[in-house]
Amino acid sequence: MDRSTDMAKLDLGHVVGRSTKHRINSTTTVTQWALYPLGGVRRPADGTYVTSVYCRRCGRAVRLSVDSETVVLKKRRTWGIWGWSLTCPALVMILIAFVVGFGTAAGGSLIGGGAFVLLTGLAFGAAASDTGARIAKGEPRASRKIHEIRRSLR
Ligand SMILES: [Zn+2]
Repeated sequence: MDRSTDMAKLDLGHVVGRSTKHRINSTTTVTQWALYPLGGVRRPADGTYVTSVYCRRCGRAVRLSVDSETVVLKKRRTWGIWGWSLTCPALVMILIAFVVGFGTAAGGSLIGGGAFVLLTGLAFGAAASDTGARIAKGEPRASRKIHEIRRSLR
């Protein structure tokens, strides 16, 4: 996974289509994006600032919140700490399940352990992928629906 905090590695995505794939047991929605470089957007020296970027697809000036490098690294570290502190209960619960053996208690413990494993994965995922740039909260709903900051495929 790309952990770079380089703004040049991020694009403004505009939704151009959604397609759903139906399988026997599941339906997955795939979103197609038109990606545009963020141009001259730079990270602030400190804190978070709001700037706007022109979307070449719809001609709208989309407001973005951009974190400084320090803020991104701090957020990732916090998620990492969450990940590690969730690892312990996950292991303990799975261990209990094996010690208790098969039965209702073991089943409950396994389900609990599984839930913690899931949360651990989510926290570590967030730790690795926080880009430190997103569509600003003040941006209208309609615009937030069709725009997203995406990792560049370049
Ligand atoms: Zn757009």
